[in-house]
Amino acid sequence: MATRRPTTMDAGAVRRRNLSAVLELVHLRRGVTRADLTRALGLNRSTIGDLVAVLAENGWVDERDDAPRSGVGRPSPRVLPRDARLVAAINPELDVIDVALVSLGAEIVARRRVPLSEPPTVAATVERAARTVAELAADHPESTVVAAGVAVPGLVRHEDGLVRLAPRLGWREEPLAAPLAAAMGIPVAAANDAHLGCRAEQSFGAGQGARTMLYLNGGPSGIGGGLVVDGRPMDGAAGYAGELGHASVDPNGPLCACGAIGCLEALVPRAALAAAVGLEHPDDDTLESALLTAIVAEDTGGPVHEEVARQLRWLAIALRGAVNLLNPERIVLGGHLAALWRAADRDQRASLLGQALPVNAADATIEVAALGGQRLLIGAAELAWDGLIADPLSAGESDAARADALPVVS
Ligand SMILES: [Zn+2]
Repeated sequence: MATRRPTTMDAGAVRRRNLSAVLELVHLRRGVTRADLTRALGLNRSTIGDLVAVLAENGWVDERDDAPRSGVGRPSPRVLPRDARLVAAINPELDVIDVALVSLGAEIVARRRVPLSEPPTVAATVERAARTVAELAADHPESTVVAAGVAVPGLVRHEDGLVRLAPRLGWREEPLAAPLAAAMGIPVAAANDAHLGCRAEQSFGAGQGARTMLYLNGGPSGIGGGLVVDGRPMDGAAGYAGELGHASVDPNGPLCACGAIGCLEALVPRAALAAAVGLEHPDDDTLESALLTAIVAEDTGGPVHEEVARQLRWLAIALRGAVNLLNPERIVLGGHLAALWRAADRDQRASLLGQALPVNAADATIEVAALGGQRLLIGAAELAWDGLIADPLSAGESDAARADALPVVS
């Protein structure tokens, strides 16, 4: 019979909220001192000590007395995320299913890119992702995979992870989170990939500290967007906000996969940039280094320069609308849009915001995604951590239930 710990039984709403606040800070800062926690949360030292002890007892954190001494007195013990629990992060794309195990503190501890010969169906995604997570988990027997998050290149309904539309994958009104949860036996949440990339960059990358931010993600399936307003993600009424990839930039342009004419993503495709440097399905890092090498090697006016200039011109038109609407302080570019920015010369960079109203663009800086090729997986992991960080002691109960359900191997 499973015995519940007294701390779990006594946990009230206030205590749960405080435990959650401590764990969230340990996660976001990848470790903090007890003194940091006392300052940041406005709780007294003995309360913090008690909360940290409960989190340690429940397998969430470790304490170490190795903080550097600063000033007089004893150094404050450091509270570090522990990787007894991991979450799975899954990102299906046209040509690959990218899977990782991610620890508290957003460190990727294992990753496998499963190459595909054709865009995956939902059923194939569920089967391949569940199998890959199980294989990666088997390599980490000291940890338990407790939840999963999926970054989907499409429109995903907040409440239940239903994929309303992923045009380039050919998915329409497809349940995804529910069948994955059934296949893996853990809670699964799904959301739009660019929203998750935005969240990852805001929490751990180039968006840290930004109150108003626009994030643009350039992936094999097109261009997605994420917004931060007043320091919080702005996902819209049901989860579909930020689709700047389908902003109209050329009324005489090509037909987009969404059915409209002249969308940004139809005019700024990753595949065209990759083709210009002779690659077919490069990951972000490969594309960026090939592009930078080609730009340096080629004379101005060559085909790579031409494609970069062409894509930047269309991007500037989309940014005109977005910057005038949002008045952002930060614009973060990910994927092939980050590669474009790095390949751009000084004049081209200046021209990206040159069409917006000057006062609307005055406070905006453009940055490339600091998490690089990890941003979508880290964002998907954030989604998976949400429920656990909100109620850290619930994880102990579900661990116990899982242990009861599994056959004991001795
Ligand atoms: Zn479109």
